[in-house]
Amino acid sequence: MAATFDILLVGAGHAHVVVLRQWAAHPVKARRIALLSPSPYAWYSGMLPGLLAGHYRPEQCRIHLPPLCRAAGVEFIQGTLDTLEADKKKVRLVDETWLQGQWLSLNTGSVPRLPERQQSSIEICPVKPFADFLLTVKRWQQNPAPVAIVGGGAAGVELALALAHQTPSLALFCGGVLLRGHLPTLRTRALRHLHQRGIQVHEHCAVDTLTGDRLMSGQQTVWQGNRVIMATGPTPLAWWQNSGLQCDPQGFIQSSATLQSPSHPHIFATGDCATIAGTPKNGVNAVRQGEVLANNLTHLFTKHPLGRFKPATSPLALLADGQGGALMSWGPLTGEGRLAGRWKDFLDRRFIRHHSIDKWA
Ligand SMILES: Cc1cc2nc3c(=O)[nH]c(=O)nc-3n(C[C@H](O)[C@H](O)[C@H](O)COP(=O)(O)OP(=O)(O)OC[C@H]3O[C@@H](n4cnc5c(N)ncnc54)[C@H](O)[C@@H]3O)c2cc1C
Repeated sequence: MAATFDILLVGAGHAHVVVLRQWAAHPVKARRIALLSPSPYAWYSGMLPGLLAGHYRPEQCRIHLPPLCRAAGVEFIQGTLDTLEADKKKVRLVDETWLQGQWLSLNTGSVPRLPERQQSSIEICPVKPFADFLLTVKRWQQNPAPVAIVGGGAAGVELALALAHQTPSLALFCGGVLLRGHLPTLRTRALRHLHQRGIQVHEHCAVDTLTGDRLMSGQQTVWQGNRVIMATGPTPLAWWQNSGLQCDPQGFIQSSATLQSPSHPHIFATGDCATIAGTPKNGVNAVRQGEVLANNLTHLFTKHPLGRFKPATSPLALLADGQGGALMSWGPLTGEGRLAGRWKDFLDRRFIRHHSIDKWA
């Protein structure tokens, strides 16, 4: 028999952490609610480059979930979803137990796209799950060797700048231009920082195969070595497509402005696993979705109309430069320096403090 909940939150992504914080302040009374998460910690992605650069300790970059859940009146269940049966509102965990929710909310993030391997000896380290990524990089830091990073978005750039001083040589590959979708002036600033730190940047160089100890772009060998970090964008997971939920053409879960599945309105989906019209997948939008989600899940029981999510029109982007400063863009403006770094540090620490019940005193 499946344990049954009024609301089952699956995954402790950025949006659900915000929901828990809001419910800790204003609990949803007389409802049985649970959070399912593989780990008792939720990592805050914005601080991971700073952690790798040695500016933070691990416990400063993560939120301890069981106390936050207790404060929010939510049961914490440690486990990993394996299968979702959307029609039956049921999930099966990897350990084969079943959970059921009258309402389900999915915020499970995603994993990076991996290249094809052909008898390759290269150790691949995807940036997610964060806990596994951090363990691998920590092991590498004890025995430095050349590293290639595949993925030229904000995460790839920040990771390259964080690891530059710890790695004998570092190469960064992107399929198109660096920081696609960001302002050209931010790209220029990032390129200058990367070059100053001795990082080889390969734009318009899509890595598709690993053969032996070589990275291949089509038929061309573009790098040789043994360690590769995959920081390519989110890729769809099989369980989304097998769930019965409506997915977009790439395979991400379709979600509406009220953050509900159009095919299964009793299921909400937010963060990187969801496609919401006009919304780039990033941590900033996941956090903003959390604010709307908390209210909407509460309104389910009060019959209030559900609120609609609107993506930020000109969000502030702050990229850590690996040396305590940051590159920033806001609207049409870009800048860089230690002040921007201090601002990023303030915002990131504030997020952790705000969501860590053990730090509220
Ligand atoms: C190095 C790095 C730096 C970044 N910096 C920034 C930044 O500064 N600003 C920004 O906006 N974005 C940034 N991003 C992007 C950002 O990390 C993602 O967009 C964001 O994490 C998405 O959050 P989410 O809420 O979808 O879920 P996530 O934060 O990815 O969390 C998903 C959670 O679901 C859990 N989960 C996964 N699978 C299952 C399962 N099967 N069952 C149960 N639980 C599951 C995971 O354990 C995890 O806790 C960065 C990314 C990286 C890699």
